[in-house]
Amino acid sequence: AEIHELMTGRIAEFPDFPEPGVLFRDITPLLADGPAMRKVIAHWCSLLPADLDVIVGTEARGFVLGAPLAYELGIGFVPVRKAGKLPGFPRSVTYSLEYGTATVEIAQGAIAPGQRVVIVDDLLATGGTAQATAELVRDFEAELLGASFLIELEGLGGRDKLADLPVSALWSIP
Ligand code: IMP
Repeated sequence: AEIHELMTGRIAEFPDFPEPGVLFRDITPLLADGPAMRKVIAHWCSLLPADLDVIVGTEARGFVLGAPLAYELGIGFVPVRKAGKLPGFPRSVTYSLEYGTATVEIAQGAIAPGQRVVIVDDLLATGGTAQATAELVRDFEAELLGASFLIELEGLGGRDKLADLPVSALWSIP
């Protein structure tokens, strides 16, 4: 309950951003509050599966939340980047958006086969990003144990899209 209160007071809502009809949730006020972030990260750690090896975080807010989680757990952090940012020969998965497509990439060799992985991001909406990330992680032959979000927008069906994957969220908005 305390965590819920911490979050609701520190996540701003912007109607019609980035386009008309969308209510954008902005985590900037939470990020700017050190003591609140510490409590959120500590609580979030307690929700994650045991014996993880790697947190995979999605550009860009998945970096800011995933890195302190990985640090707190003493495990690795692997960034999922948008197309064209990683050197070498990253693995990539392309998925459809409402308009057009997007590509997510992970550096070659960043995850070892059999490593126990959870995907982290700030927000689960339609689930498209997380689904593509899950496909990417599985391509490394890792053991994908779940996906975990600060915020879940329940009405958009993201959880259903990730049907075979355990999903957790600190704040599920109906
Ligand atoms: P999805 O692929 O539709 O589930 O959208 C999730 C992705 O879009 C995540 O990487 C989020 O960071 C971003 N996103 C979608 N809606 C919001 C929002 O209201 N606030 C912040 N990020 C959002």
